[in-house]
Amino acid sequence: MAKLITVFGATGAQGGSVANALLEDQDFKVRAVTRNASSDKAKALQGKGAEIVQASLDDPSTLGPALQGAHGVFVVTNYWEHMDQEREIKQGKDIADAAKAAGVLHVVFSGLENVEKIAGFPCPHFDAKGQIEEYMTSLELPVAFVRFSFYYENYISMMKPQKQEDGTYVLGVPMEGAAMDIVSAGDMGPAVRTIFRNWARWIRRAVGFSGDKLTIQQTADILSKHLAPKVFKASDMTADAFGQLGFPGADDLGNMFKFYRLHNPDRSVELTRQLHPAAKTFDTWAAENKEALQNALD
Ligand code: NAP
Repeated sequence: MAKLITVFGATGAQGGSVANALLEDQDFKVRAVTRNASSDKAKALQGKGAEIVQASLDDPSTLGPALQGAHGVFVVTNYWEHMDQEREIKQGKDIADAAKAAGVLHVVFSGLENVEKIAGFPCPHFDAKGQIEEYMTSLELPVAFVRFSFYYENYISMMKPQKQEDGTYVLGVPMEGAAMDIVSAGDMGPAVRTIFRNWARWIRRAVGFSGDKLTIQQTADILSKHLAPKVFKASDMTADAFGQLGFPGADDLGNMFKFYRLHNPDRSVELTRQLHPAAKTFDTWAAENKEALQNALD
């Protein structure tokens, strides 16, 4: 019988990819969670065979019903919607408690490291997820953690290349010459599906998803190749200077890049390809998303 998996964030990047991968597989059924069942994205999932339930991580009373009868759950919390570390931690603890109470057998949580603990400087959107991971572990939940790298998709949204006066474009990721793991968020659903499928191998492990590990100049060179004659270059900004740019979350992101550079957290192209052999390199993704990349540019 097909196993029912409740998917949080199913209308978003991570959960959408997970829901779609599970929907393609007859061994799974999907219950997609959203706060708005009448959105186009929710309706599209319903059209592909998902059951839609309305629930919110901010309302614990809705979580039990969303998990009732579920064999597994994929959980992602969205820090950037509110930028409130305590609120994200509460969301994570509430869903952990609900999964424990409902007896869910397979929990996959999209976590990250507790940077403050490891590096000694705060990075609230990581630290919150790190604390949720710690809480889930303390509950002895049957859980596997997946840790997403910086998305390729950020280059068509929040970190799109900025046009310079000389007509070139700068990638504003302040890695100071170091390589960084990156991944397509929309490409990791099949990897999460493999974790649900081969549970005994992945339970109580943390997998750092990476499709590629590149310096920002290597990333820029790939964009220059696909979007020629446009030319892309790496920024020479430091992570500390980025942190002082003043927009909401700049300090949080600046410390994330610093953490990536100084601590090189465990992300693995090899493990990611074991889970999803067709995981895209940045080069493949850029070739496939040339039009979206082009349209994002000024
Ligand atoms: P997204 O595409 O913006 O989608 C957010 C999803 O979360 C939506 O499906 C939304 O559902 C759901 N959601 C938000 N608040 C909810 C609530 N209170 N209850 C239930 N569902 C809720 O987000 P994403 O990129 O998949 O995931 C965001 C997370 O990824 C962030 O916490 C971020 O730190 C982390 N992350 C991002 C990167 C990156 O490079 N961007 C890398 C690693 C990790 P509805 O609106 O339909 O209710």
